[in-house]
Amino acid sequence: MKPLALYLHVPFCARKCAYCDFASWPGREGEWWRYFDALVTEIRLWSENTDFGLLKARFRVRSAFIGGGTPTLVPAEWIAEALRMCRQIAPFDADAEITIEGNPGTLTPGKLRAYRRAGVNRLSLGAQSFDDDLLHTLGRIHTAAQTVEAVRMARDAGFSNINLDLMYGLPGQTMAQWLDTLNRAVALNVPHISAYSLILEPGTPLAARVASGEISVPDDEAVIAMQRVAVELLSKSDYGRYEISNYAKPKSESRHNLTYWYRGDYLGLGCAAHSMLDQSRFSNPDALDAYLAGERMTDVQRLKQWDIIEETVMLNTRATRGIDLAAWERQFARPFAPQDDKTLKRLAGAGYIEISDGRLYLTGRGLEVQNAVVLELLEIQEAMER
Ligand code: SF4
Repeated sequence: MKPLALYLHVPFCARKCAYCDFASWPGREGEWWRYFDALVTEIRLWSENTDFGLLKARFRVRSAFIGGGTPTLVPAEWIAEALRMCRQIAPFDADAEITIEGNPGTLTPGKLRAYRRAGVNRLSLGAQSFDDDLLHTLGRIHTAAQTVEAVRMARDAGFSNINLDLMYGLPGQTMAQWLDTLNRAVALNVPHISAYSLILEPGTPLAARVASGEISVPDDEAVIAMQRVAVELLSKSDYGRYEISNYAKPKSESRHNLTYWYRGDYLGLGCAAHSMLDQSRFSNPDALDAYLAGERMTDVQRLKQWDIIEETVMLNTRATRGIDLAAWERQFARPFAPQDDKTLKRLAGAGYIEISDGRLYLTGRGLEVQNAVVLELLEIQEAMER
């Protein structure tokens, strides 16, 4: 039985954050129930679907992630029902990691207890910052105090596996503010912290305000400095960096996230959800109306050998465990690079990569320029494929 990760998308939010270009919509309460009805139907159809063989005969679910949007906005019983139906797609491991993404402004003790009863055992909180002014600039609906309260309520409800999402490189953010956010996150002693740099997505209100000069974001150098202090401060507090933006206390790495970086099989349910099964990628439509109208599984793409090589290099090198060279050789029936390859020697000599214990991985310095290192590693692959 192969491991499988499930993703369920809930595309509703209380308000649209100023930087967000995800498939999520504020309001539309009138469509919430229709959406869940469609989602449960999609889940039921997958429990009978044989496009990839009957999934329950081939896979066991090692992780499920209910993301969005704001899944904690909708009634908790709907989440419980969707999860219950998912168990018909394939059997869940007894210790399956089941995460719900929560916005601190939408949690109540009752909802948290209902998630626990439904089998959810991990909570990922979109804290983003512990500075209320920055939260306001981002258009978040919660305050720093509500994040602290959400962690307390979650623990009371029985959650011990909690992640805090944080953001840096925010408009007007100083290093002192970022350090304060990191320290306050660490003080909460949650087992997992994700720290992402802000990406100004075209078309968002925040990008427009920056483009007009009304507000400004820290420059590239300041953003790299913020990333470096995060690595340093978090590692001193026992959070190991296991991916460019993810840090965990020992044995608290997210199984679900690792599935993406190590290209395991995953099935995405709901609008805008992406899937990869047996080296085929497909997705549901981004638009809510198209999903509600029954459109499913658009863009089915059977990956070719080169696609798989490219993805393996791009995704594995995000993780600090990097590429398993023996697994590579088994999968592609050839070594990663020729003996004494000049590019690898140069990258290692410059401190961007290390090769040890049968793995090739990027150093902290290499992770800062991961895209550039990946391009060089792909040039090696192009030569090997010729
Ligand atoms: S809560 Fe998340 S998904 Fe919703 S608008 Fe904000 S960033 Fe986007």
